[in-house]
Amino acid sequence: MNPLRVVVWGENVHEHKNPKVAAVYPDGMHNAIAAGIRELLPTAEVGTATLQESDHGLSEVRLAATDVLVWWGHMAHDKVEDKVVDQVQKRVLEGMGLIVLHSGHYSKIFKRLLGTSCSLTWREADERERLWVCNPGHPIAKGIDRCFELAQEEMYGEPFGIPSPDEQVFISWFEGGEVFRSGNCWHRGNGKIFYFRPGHETYPTYFDKNVRRVIANAVEWARPQGQWIDSCPNVKVPLEPIKPKA
Ligand code: ZN
Repeated sequence: MNPLRVVVWGENVHEHKNPKVAAVYPDGMHNAIAAGIRELLPTAEVGTATLQESDHGLSEVRLAATDVLVWWGHMAHDKVEDKVVDQVQKRVLEGMGLIVLHSGHYSKIFKRLLGTSCSLTWREADERERLWVCNPGHPIAKGIDRCFELAQEEMYGEPFGIPSPDEQVFISWFEGGEVFRSGNCWHRGNGKIFYFRPGHETYPTYFDKNVRRVIANAVEWARPQGQWIDSCPNVKVPLEPIKPKA
């Protein structure tokens, strides 16, 4: 099997505006996420891309050579060019995997592919999050106990404006009482999409061993299975002869 080609896309804005975020992620959030994937999937080829690069680092050529794209964005969703969103959507429909993290719930690409509001409730109160595995046989939950905790996270609560997931892997509970569908799978065209909730920029969430395990599992799960090409050929010559009708 060819090495899995992974690109971690980071908005890379908070890190340069908020010293608290820069202190937690001195190399940028995208590099911390990429390091976790490299650590757990040593045979994968893992690169990064950011908003500030030409085509946000996601040219047609690069996307054509990407098996799984991981996406973290928040305050600059509207700065992502529509032509790049179009290209990412096309690649997902062909079979590229897409892992959308945390505030990426409001990214153009996630809303485009899911077709719903993707809205939710939220609160920043340094509260504890407990993620329950609700689908223990699922490959994304491999190696995860029946639940795990993050000492401090932002709260996301229901209702989460998503289409019902094809498969749900995690449900989160928060210290303040809310619950949230925090690990959800969909299929769009030939591509697999996984949304994973944790990862507010002011917390060291992407260094957590369970979070890293889930993201690596999701990358493996989203590996493309063949490719669908978007075309409508006129198949004039049938496989079997068709008898003329009277
Ligand atoms: Zn957040």
